[in-house]
Order: sequence, then structure tokens, then C-alpha cells
Amino acid sequence: MKKLTIFLIVPLTILAAFMLYRADTQFPDRQLYEAAIPSLPQFESEAMALRLAEAIRIRTISHDDRSNFDAEAFLGFHRYLEDSFPRVHAVAERELINDYSLVYRIDGRDRELKPALFMGHMDVVPVDPATADQWSHDPFSGAIEDGVIWGRGAIDDKLTVMALMEAMEALLASGNVPARTVYFAFGHDEEVGGKDGARQAAAYFRDRGVSFEFVLDEGGAVTEGMISAVEAPVAVIGIAEKGYVNLHLTVAAAGGHSSQPPPHTAAGILAQAIVRVEDNPFPASLSAMEPNFAYIGHYLPFGTRVALANTWLLGPLVESTLLAEATTAASIRTTTAVTMLEGSSKSNILPTRAEAVVNFRILPGDSVASVQRHIERAIDDPRVSVRAEMANEPSPVSSTESFGFRLLERTIRGMDDSVLVAPYLVQGGTDAKHFVDLSDSVYRFVMFRANPTTMKRVHGIDEQIAIDEYTRAVGFYYALLSDLDAA
Ligand SMILES: [Zn+2]
Repeated sequence: MKKLTIFLIVPLTILAAFMLYRADTQFPDRQLYEAAIPSLPQFESEAMALRLAEAIRIRTISHDDRSNFDAEAFLGFHRYLEDSFPRVHAVAERELINDYSLVYRIDGRDRELKPALFMGHMDVVPVDPATADQWSHDPFSGAIEDGVIWGRGAIDDKLTVMALMEAMEALLASGNVPARTVYFAFGHDEEVGGKDGARQAAAYFRDRGVSFEFVLDEGGAVTEGMISAVEAPVAVIGIAEKGYVNLHLTVAAAGGHSSQPPPHTAAGILAQAIVRVEDNPFPASLSAMEPNFAYIGHYLPFGTRVALANTWLLGPLVESTLLAEATTAASIRTTTAVTMLEGSSKSNILPTRAEAVVNFRILPGDSVASVQRHIERAIDDPRVSVRAEMANEPSPVSSTESFGFRLLERTIRGMDDSVLVAPYLVQGGTDAKHFVDLSDSVYRFVMFRANPTTMKRVHGIDEQIAIDEYTRAVGFYYALLSDLDAA
């Protein structure tokens, strides 16, 4: 008995020591220290706030029903940019893409260097009429009160468009031009998929053989209290985004009166298929989270570090912990959401056709085809046909060693070294997805503070940005634009 205990204790002690050792060494501090950034000018915050407020007043709304498209609003917005940023418009080559999207080119000092692309979108989501009266200020008033700018687009995404313009205008005013050529691409339909705007802008660059050192779009932010167990704010930079596909499951059957039904109607067969879809979720994979763990691991509690440093043994435990929450589950697997159902149009008529739509957000590593295969295998019923629509492959994963990532990292840390930097996987879609073949380095980040409260305002009620924060966003772009020389 004694012998057996020793037999167990010795290897277990060695194992525990090994795991603790890994927890201690696996996560060195990856943050940059003493990152120097170019000095920032004294911005005229009040004037900049007034210009953003005016931009909010222009109702560049994207409706799902494109017949509601207000061309005059977008053309008005173009004129507004022209009037507000005369220096940019004096030196930039401006191109209209598909009438309503904009591409600007500002030539850099060194034409040998590959250009950089900064993206944003001019359109905003509509205000839900059911909640319009819950806004503290009219959503298109551009009200400024107590140091806060109010209205739809204050964050998503007139913040980006206007802050980029302000930064470039200020840089030109200081007598400088960027080291490398800079492009701005401002879409007009990001909120409805970017098909007419960003996708056409990407085609425009492709036709001209223009590719980029890096691309920066929205999609990340400085998060506060959004990563549990990390107290410091974390600037998450999107290095990849999930793919998207709707699978339409259809069953056809002979119709007839419901008084003499077969044992399974088209709707019943479809319902069984849906059960099998939900019972066969996609396997979890920690690989998309690994770059994120590498950057914030050092700041996690020791227990969490032991688990993350020893996924060879504790991987299943880590996975089941992350799968327990919908928000973290979405980071480690292709998600399945049954969203639409249709059967007979009348209660006493057998359906001749039943259809369900299942929406998938695809993890890098999976593909539209592999998702369809997985689902066809799970259903395993020739009566159910599966058709893919609105398919977008997941993006490639951009490196954290590139010039572009390093630039973002040192600028964020240089502005405030209490903010940690970490790469992450964007769960939604951005216009950047149209540009992944034009650069190996596609990043998604906007300098604004995202916490559970501010995130509810994006596409929600009381969207707003503090003047201080807006000024910081302008400063961030100014620092990026002044620091484009090294490669
Ligand atoms: Zn947006």
C-alpha cells in the first residue's frame, strides 16, 4: 500500500511542478514598454466636436430596403467633407466609387514604400422608431452637452471617418505629408454588407494593381471590463474575422388536406433535420484564441494561467469553460443559429414545401464548404436539400509581427501604457473582409473605450462620444499617419 502511494505521489508531484512551471514561464509579458510616439499638436477640440456634430446631422442612413436610399444625403456628406477639410481636398486625389463611396489618395514622400489604407464608413443604421423617444437627445441632432457629442454615428462610424480627416488635415497644416502614400476608403453601405461600396472599392484597387502594407478598419476597441479576470483596459486589435453563411434547408412533399396526413409532413421532416443540426455543433478549437492568450496571459490570475499553459492536459476543461458562455463560445467555434422557419400557409393544408434558414459564423480553419458538409452529414436525410446563400469565407489571420501591427501596438501603448494590447478574432463582419487579398496585414481597431454600456449604444439608444475621447481618436490617427516610414 505504502509502495503504491509513493508510486503515485512522485509522478503526480513531478506533473504538478511541471504544470506550475509552464504557467510561470509560458506567458512572459508581451506588452511594449517605453513606446515612443510622434508628438501631437494641440488640437482644437471644440471645433472638431462641432464638425463631428454636423456630420451626425446628415442622415446617411442604410436601410435594408434599398429603395429608401437617400442619394442626396450621401452627396451632401461628400460636400460637407470637402468644405470641412480644404487642405486634404487640395492635395488628395479623390475618386467616387459607385457614385457614393469615396477613395482618397494622399501621396507620400517615399513612393518606394507600399501604401497604407485606412477605412471607415459614412452610412449609419436607422433609429428604431419603437425606441426613438427613449433617446436623451434627438438621434440626428448632433447635440453637444457636458462635453459629449450625441447622435447616431457618433461611434459607428462617423467617428472614424471624421477623425481620420481631422488627423490628415492637421498633419498637412503642420507642413508635413505622410512618409508613405495613404489611401482613405469610406464606404456608403457597410451596414448592409458593403456590396456596393467597399467591395467595389476593393475592385478599384485590384484593377489598378494597388496593394497595401497594411489595412486598418473598424472592428476592435479599447475594452473595459469585457475580458473577465483582466482588470486593465485591453485594446483588442482584430487580426481576423469570422466567415458567414446561411444554409437553407428545404423539404418538398405532396400537399393535400390535413385530415389525411402521412406520418411525416414536410414540416415534420424539416423539424427532425433541425434537431440533428442543433445536436451536432461544430467542434471547439482554441487556436483562434491562442494569439489573444499569448498577449494577455501574463495578466490573468495564476489558476487561469495554469490551465491555459497546459492545454495539452486541460484543453477540454478550458474549452468547456469558454463554451459555457455564448460570447466566448463564439470565439472558439463555428456557431449555429436556426433563425427562420416556413411551412404551410394555412393550418389545414399540408405543406408542399418547408424551409428553414440556419445562420453560421465560420471560424478561421472551417470554410463554407466544410460547414455545408458537416450539416449534410448531420442531417443524413436525402429528403432534405441544403443550399448555401450569402456566403463569405472566414478571413485569413494577419500576423502580429508585421509593420502594421507593430505600429498599432506602439501607438496604443505610447499614448497610454496602462492599456494592454491584444490581438483577437472579430465575431461580426467588417468592410475589411473585401480587402484581404490586397494585403497580408488587415487589422480592425478604433480608438474608443468599449464597455458593456457603450457597446449597447452602438446600433442602440443614446449613441454618443465624449469630446475627450474623440480628440484621443484624432490624436491616434495623427500619430499613425506621422509614423509610417519604417517598414
Ligand atoms: Zn460600423
